[in-house]
Amino acid sequence: MRLVLVPTPIGNLEDITLRALRVLKEAEVVACEDTRRTGILLRHFGIAKPTVRLDQHTVGRAKELLEGYGYVAYATDAGTPGISDPGAELVSLGLKEGWELEVLPGPTALVPALVASGLPTARFAFEGFLPHKRSERRERLQGIAVGRTVVLYEAPHRLRDTLEDLLEFYGPAHPVAVARELSKLHEEVFRGSLGEALEHFGEPRGEFVLVLGPKEAATPQGPSAAQLLERLRAQGLR
Ligand code: SAM
Repeated sequence: MRLVLVPTPIGNLEDITLRALRVLKEAEVVACEDTRRTGILLRHFGIAKPTVRLDQHTVGRAKELLEGYGYVAYATDAGTPGISDPGAELVSLGLKEGWELEVLPGPTALVPALVASGLPTARFAFEGFLPHKRSERRERLQGIAVGRTVVLYEAPHRLRDTLEDLLEFYGPAHPVAVARELSKLHEEVFRGSLGEALEHFGEPRGEFVLVLGPKEAATPQGPSAAQLLERLRAQGLR
């Protein structure tokens, strides 16, 4: 079977690619996280196609649910399937089954958030959604931003808790960017410190990507190279 993962817009429908539209038109069936949501997208682009629901509860039965199809397109609710959604499970299942896999490049929330943050992009880590349990979340947060920028997805009702936890580990002045409703009408990119972000997002609404600035690696205690050189010179050594 040929399985093609099709990224879909995270807000602005103009972000669908020509290739994504072609695959959606050519495939025998469109498997998707939510048939109603993807149905709206298909109708918008004038594509009439049968759909099969493959969400987090049903993706494990993909082989059985896609039985008989030779060419399947898979779309999740928004963005690139496989990034913090059931797409990753479908990929690993498909590879085990020996399906032919193609992944189209396209919209995803993490890249525009990272770039718009203005924070360093040379080294970054994507941590997706943090665990819901506070103790597990705090454990994960320790040291994640050492020497690299960190990108997190967060639900609106947990944004403040996460900012508070981050503030505890990194301090109120630590740089952060919060991208909200990317490519939608109320798109906003907040850039500032953790303390300012908490003040700014009193009642968070919409979809959020949090971008945490890198933390300097702790320097080992002891004299620096310059200090050592100075001492050697003082002892008359060259
Ligand atoms: N597969 C998607 C991708 O490629 O980005 C991510 C799916 S995940 C279930 C949904 C999360 O992505 C949201 O909770 C939010 O953190 C982020 N997200 C999706 N669309 C967004 C948008 N327009 N603006 C900001 N964040 C967004």
